[in-house]
Amino acid sequence: MLRLLKNCALETARTLGLFSIVAHSRWRQQRLLILCYHGISLKDEHEWNGLYITPAFFRKRMETLARLRYRVLPLDAALRALREGSLPPKAVSITFDDGFHDFHRLGFPILREFGFPAAVYQTTYYCDHPFPLFNLVLSYLFWCGRDRRLDGAAYGVPGIFDLSREQVRRGAVDAFRDFGRRQRLSPAQKDALAARVAAELGVDYDEILRLRMLQLMNAGQISEIAAAGIDVQLHTHRHRSPLDEEAFIREIRDNRQWLSARTVAQLIHFCYPSGLYRTEFPPWLRAEQVVSATTCERGIADRWRDPLLLPRLLDSTVVTDVDFEAWLAGVSAFLPHRRA
Ligand SMILES: [Zn+2]
Repeated sequence: MLRLLKNCALETARTLGLFSIVAHSRWRQQRLLILCYHGISLKDEHEWNGLYITPAFFRKRMETLARLRYRVLPLDAALRALREGSLPPKAVSITFDDGFHDFHRLGFPILREFGFPAAVYQTTYYCDHPFPLFNLVLSYLFWCGRDRRLDGAAYGVPGIFDLSREQVRRGAVDAFRDFGRRQRLSPAQKDALAARVAAELGVDYDEILRLRMLQLMNAGQISEIAAAGIDVQLHTHRHRSPLDEEAFIREIRDNRQWLSARTVAQLIHFCYPSGLYRTEFPPWLRAEQVVSATTCERGIADRWRDPLLLPRLLDSTVVTDVDFEAWLAGVSAFLPHRRA
């Protein structure tokens, strides 16, 4: 109901020309909207996980940027201009988190079609392992088998899981993940375990592998997009932010070392894995020569905020078309909104 009211109010504001006034204002010119995307569906991932969108949805967003003449800038240049106060009007940057194969297969060609630059925050450990990410594929499999019950005992995992309930599915992912950790399973062993689960749940695991669903890009793909102008940046090696300084710094260094052999840009931009950050992190990042870091907090970036705590708009199907336009214009920055 509230959402409907908000959309009606936004439609009215747009009709009255308010979006255009704010979009061309001096206020907006001092700000950068950083868009955040994760995955683009190779099959039906968007029905399972709200972080996934369809290729058609992504294309529609790019069309909106082009039609309304937003200035899509490379992240590095945009952040520099933001700091110096020299942004052009209507500045936007596009970022993708994690660096999945679906970016290479679907996102990258669409960006190219529009001539838009983008940054990919690449987590790297699994780039050397041609398997779907264990936690994600389990979550996906349990969702596919949501009309079933799964007895964990067959896999050495305690518990019988009623997969019709979302909370139980989440608990099952945790239980399998903990089991994998306890047993110190290798990526290949985890993959074999996921394949067994898929077989029991009647899911075509070969198709998941063939489409390379939920897999990160490999080294060749990352070199290819980097050479074609995609700015590949830091996202930790193992997609985690340890609270211990030494371990945290190791994540940055391992990530940077892996990427520096395969990419061209200076590796100085970072995105907090899962958007989680603590006050200790910015000084640790600064000491590692990282100059910007993005969160998943909803907002439009300005130069008065710590560049190591930049907000973004996590764009997804819950962001309506008019809401998206309101964010582009800057109007949404004035409205109350839920934390992402
Ligand atoms: Zn991530």
